[in-house]
Amino acid sequence: MLGEQIIKGMAVTAKNFFGSYVSKDRLTTVQYPEERLTPKENTRQFPFLVFDGDDAEKGLRCVACQICEKECPPQCIYIVKSKDKKPDYKGQMQVYPVTFDIDISVCMSCSICVEVCPFESIKMNNEFELSTDDRFKGLLLTKKELAKPNSYYQQIHPQDAKDSDAVIAAEKVKAEAKAKAAAEAKAKADAEAKAKAAAAAAPVGTPPANPPTPPPAAK
Ligand code: SF4
Ligand code: SF4
Repeated sequence: MLGEQIIKGMAVTAKNFFGSYVSKDRLTTVQYPEERLTPKENTRQFPFLVFDGDDAEKGLRCVACQICEKECPPQCIYIVKSKDKKPDYKGQMQVYPVTFDIDISVCMSCSICVEVCPFESIKMNNEFELSTDDRFKGLLLTKKELAKPNSYYQQIHPQDAKDSDAVIAAEKVKAEAKAKAAAEAKAKADAEAKAKAAAAAAPVGTPPANPPTPPPAAK
């Protein structure tokens, strides 16, 4: 029947409108800012930088590789790389960002920086109350403002943070196994070099330290 779907839609609207006087479940809005809804887990606003431990400077995961800066479509990330290095979460010496700014007046919350980051360092925040009357510096978030502990990430995006922690733990195990194999190979090479040097230094005619066992005499 012509207009049947319109009538059905109006009926749903009327049901929710009148129902909202008696049932809170039918209310789709809240009296903000007195009331606030808890953001859904996948809500994303602007990026933040994750750090491990208690020290934002020491524990910052970012190694200033600048991939996010290059890939950001509106180019609103600004990074200055350090000249020195510090150990990262795998214990490897890495450079770090001396400056890491994001201009959130330009950021379009696309999350591309998060997708391209190879170090689980940058994630999307769900904080949205960032309005300010300073339209210049007030919207330029610095490294200090962007840095948040991993516990904060675990709180706002529990599943993502769990996956992220698993990736980091696996990387750490891989790096430790690689370092152990390299140390063993080096120790073996050193021992071989030492044996060779000892053999070269021995006077001509000196029997080797461990002479080969002669084969049994034929009967
Ligand atoms: S969310 Fe998108 S626009 Fe914003 S900083 Fe990341 S890549 Fe750039
Ligand atoms: S946030 Fe990630 S992609 Fe961006 S510079 Fe740091 S480590 Fe590289």
